[in-house]
Amino acid sequence: MVSDEKSELPMRPSSRRAARSSPPPALAPDDHHNATLIANVHPPSWRSPTPAPRYNLVVIGAGTAGLVTAAGAAGLGAKVALVERHLLGGDCLNLGCVPSKCVIRSARVVGDLRVAAALGVRVPAGVEVDFPAVMERMRRLRARISVHDSAGRFQDELGVDVFLGDGRFTGPDTVDVGGARLRFKRAVVATGARAAHPAIDGLAAAGFLTNETVFSLTERPRRLAVIGGGPIGCELAQAFARLGSEVVLLHDAAHILEREDADAAAVVQRAFVREGIRLVLDARIRRVTRLGGEKTLELEAPGMQDAVTVDEILVGAGRVPNVEGLNLEAVGIEHDVRQGVRVDDRLRTTNPRVYAAGDVCMSHKFTHAADFAARLVIQNALFLGRRKVSALTIPWCTYTDPEIAHVGLSEREAERRGIAIGTFVRPFHEVDRAIVDGEEEGLVKIHVRKGTDRIVGATIVARHAGEMIGELTLAMVARIGLGRIASVIHPYPTQAEAIRQLGDAYNRTRLTPLVRRAFQRWLAWTR
Ligand SMILES: Cc1cc2nc3c(=O)[nH]c(=O)nc-3n(C[C@H](O)[C@H](O)[C@H](O)COP(=O)(O)OP(=O)(O)OC[C@H]3O[C@@H](n4cnc5c(N)ncnc54)[C@H](O)[C@@H]3O)c2cc1C
Repeated sequence: MVSDEKSELPMRPSSRRAARSSPPPALAPDDHHNATLIANVHPPSWRSPTPAPRYNLVVIGAGTAGLVTAAGAAGLGAKVALVERHLLGGDCLNLGCVPSKCVIRSARVVGDLRVAAALGVRVPAGVEVDFPAVMERMRRLRARISVHDSAGRFQDELGVDVFLGDGRFTGPDTVDVGGARLRFKRAVVATGARAAHPAIDGLAAAGFLTNETVFSLTERPRRLAVIGGGPIGCELAQAFARLGSEVVLLHDAAHILEREDADAAAVVQRAFVREGIRLVLDARIRRVTRLGGEKTLELEAPGMQDAVTVDEILVGAGRVPNVEGLNLEAVGIEHDVRQGVRVDDRLRTTNPRVYAAGDVCMSHKFTHAADFAARLVIQNALFLGRRKVSALTIPWCTYTDPEIAHVGLSEREAERRGIAIGTFVRPFHEVDRAIVDGEEEGLVKIHVRKGTDRIVGATIVARHAGEMIGELTLAMVARIGLGRIASVIHPYPTQAEAIRQLGDAYNRTRLTPLVRRAFQRWLAWTR
């Protein structure tokens, strides 16, 4: 696979020197779960291998994008080096999806207990959340899952050379890590993103949590201000409120989750208010001050000025790509500190030898998007592939309760692009299973290209919307029309029946007066 060029390149004296592994990062609390996690994803005694003379692929960053690229390429026979400075598994395993969904699972029990009486189940007084136990469960499960992403597995089972340290381009075909030089035919930048730190007067001095620190808590903050009403802010605001924190959610737009379908976001917003989360919308935070253990946020919102005092502030106000320190300029890789690494539709950077994948370059900042971008990069970088990101159908889900899941176009996006659509909506108060579950607030909304049954987008608000969106994603990918879904038998009673019912609704629109008259005549004649 590697061309003859290999033997023509002079061997630099340092190129075969073994890399020094960076020490493992400290992870609080210092318990056996975190020790297991570290032992898997940044082993303290890791000895980086002696670099191969040349790699088909050097991957910088071992989050989802990097891991999938490395494992997939090595599985196909490529010689691959994977460089990680912090924890293999990246944000998803360590500081994102996995810990947040663990905490959300515990919080959901509290949500259930709150509606128990309405379902005829009397819950005795005195039920309480054991916050340290919730967090310990999260750490235990995170450590358990971490074996999949472990350095040992990648090196010994999957045949990837794993280097623990800061990766940095040092030449047109070299990346340096821990004093060693890795030479490549192709490289992939998969360095992810991190929490944006909003420029609010006094915030840095007062101190705040982000996804990098919130999962290290062992004590529940009694009062918590969450800055940012996007997916991360909303998921964690609801979870902490359910676990017993007094939560105020500060958002700088007129409603939360403003990138979602407005009807869908409104359902979640109503749920938040019902659950006692204080929402301050169109909020401007003028200043943060700290006095002892208390932090005060001075706020302005339409028609109000207020000061909110809390014990902790959690920032979930966007993500910024990790482009610093890679020496991208030196190798002609254009980037910007907000959008990240510039890539074309095939995920190639402005340096044709280098590709990028995941949060560092994509607007869809999701684990599954990073995963499928990585698969595309393997084909394009190593096998002359021509696959395009724009051809991917990427669903997503925000794991509030109820969840919002979405795929394809929204009404807003269709209008912006001048695409005429027809929209079919089934509210859950018309769906038997949702009624018996007491989960009537929600909907399925499906958009078709006007005049056809071709599905171009869908939004679901339901307790398990994330599990339901797969059917519509499949329909879009396989070009199964909404009319055809009407003939797919769904078990009764399920909430997913709402999707089939919208197939029926679509087919009813085909019953034109002419067709109806023809049917009536046939039935009269055969009576
Ligand atoms: C709280 C939270 C919850 C989330 N929940 C979900 C969810 O439920 N579902 C979902 O799909 N997505 C979720 N996400 C998003 C998801 O975590 C990211 O989209 C995903 O991790 C992106 O993967 P990545 O490989 O691009 O980047 P990352 O996971 O960020 O990995 C990049 C890696 O590169 C390393 N790195 C950076 N620079 C260097 C360097 N110079 N040298 C060596 N290594 C370097 C970093 O240490 C990191 O390990 C969540 C995110 C957060 C913060």
